[in-house]
Amino acid sequence: KLNRFDNVNSVSRIYLNDIIKKGDVCVDATMGKGYDTIYLSEAVGEEGFVYAFDVQKEAIVKTSEKLEESMFPQNTKLILDGHENIDKYVKENIKCAVFNLGYLPGCEHKIITKPETTIQAIEKSLDLLCEGGVVCISVYTGHEGGKEEGNAIIEYTQNLEQKKYNVIMTTFINQKNNPPHIVLIEKKK
Ligand code: SAM
Repeated sequence: KLNRFDNVNSVSRIYLNDIIKKGDVCVDATMGKGYDTIYLSEAVGEEGFVYAFDVQKEAIVKTSEKLEESMFPQNTKLILDGHENIDKYVKENIKCAVFNLGYLPGCEHKIITKPETTIQAIEKSLDLLCEGGVVCISVYTGHEGGKEEGNAIIEYTQNLEQKKYNVIMTTFINQKNNPPHIVLIEKKK
């Protein structure tokens, strides 16, 4: 049985379900096996659009297979490139960008997201956000480099101008061994 607060995915969906509407344009900054891509594709519907990024070809293959079986296979563009290059592909305002950091579970090559490029991508996503739009970042701290990436993101987002952005963090305070965090940045209206 699943509980609402079981993990970062279940909790972030509580926020995302409220933010994303039919017809919105969204970005999946870390496609992986495509679970978030499919969720976004179905949330924005036929009139909306999703741009999804990953640096691994395997992610494109896995996600396109899932997409073919999904409700709106036409509303999504899968891009084999780093999210730090988001501005090369996305030329319109977005309602939401979702980051699910770290590495792809079950993948042999542990290609992980890195603080510098992650922050570049967050910064560019903030520029693309429409007013009231949100960047949602799931941060894992248990793997090598995860803690450093988490700290870099917290430091960067803590210093975002309060006049322009609301920043909140949700975490699992009774979870042992490096619990993950969700950081959400809302662009003020
Ligand atoms: N959201 C995914 C899902 O639903 O299956 C899980 C994402 S997984 C935790 C992190 C992904 O980030 C990996 O697939 C990895 O290849 C990807 N990644 C690493 N560096 C990246 C970069 N610079 N730009 C885009 N994706 C990157």
